[in-house]
Amino acid sequence: MNDIRITPVCAFKDNYVWVVSRGASAVVVDPGDARPVAEHLHAEGLQLAAILNTHHHLDHVGGNAELVAERAAPVYGPDDARIPALTQRVGEGQRIAIAPLGIEFSVLEIPGHTRTHIAYYGAGMLFCGDTLFACGCGRLFEGTPRQMHDSLAKLARLPDATRVYCGHEYTLSNIRFAKLVDTENPLLAEWEREAAAQRARNEPTVPSTIGREKAANPFLRCSEQAIARSASKHAGHALADAVEVLAEIREWKNSL
Ligand code: ZN
Ligand code: FE
Repeated sequence: MNDIRITPVCAFKDNYVWVVSRGASAVVVDPGDARPVAEHLHAEGLQLAAILNTHHHLDHVGGNAELVAERAAPVYGPDDARIPALTQRVGEGQRIAIAPLGIEFSVLEIPGHTRTHIAYYGAGMLFCGDTLFACGCGRLFEGTPRQMHDSLAKLARLPDATRVYCGHEYTLSNIRFAKLVDTENPLLAEWEREAAAQRARNEPTVPSTIGREKAANPFLRCSEQAIARSASKHAGHALADAVEVLAEIREWKNSL
């Protein structure tokens, strides 16, 4: 599998469209904008084998129709009428074989950011859209704290070495927030230095790994004493469980 290449195509202000290629075939994850993706495929001489969508937000699906208008390819995504040009509706546990690349992805349903959000896991890679970010998580637009908690816990059960490809470059601001919540965690300062150096070189800070997220991402650590303590201090009262902790720190981050 080491002839698989994963390239970020930047779109809008901070979106990453992930292009997974092998030889002359490519899978494109969450093409919010067709133009930079088409330019990349053309420049690299890549044929579009499939589009994978994690959720219906326009910055992830806005390029679907234009990309498949000019090149026939299946468009995978959750069963959600809000996704344009969708041809393959997929759900929990389903496997997707991308024949030209010789890769198989399995689908995980991870509601919370949106009602129908899914992730794709295969070949040691996780494409998780706007649910799990490097050192953070997505906003709860359509889901409950319980759903987001369970979705993040599901992702945390993947192998530690799994590379996590999320949909946005939010890492530095996420780490800055994490330091407010998880004040004693030495991994955060370390990660901040590394991420700042990457951004200074104009490199992505993504992918991270599941192992790193479990050790440093406060939204995956809501059962830890240190996080619970900061969250209840911020709330001004005791919090009953990890779900309430997650709800509190998500609100806290929204308020900054
Ligand atoms: Zn989104
Ligand atoms: Fe997004």
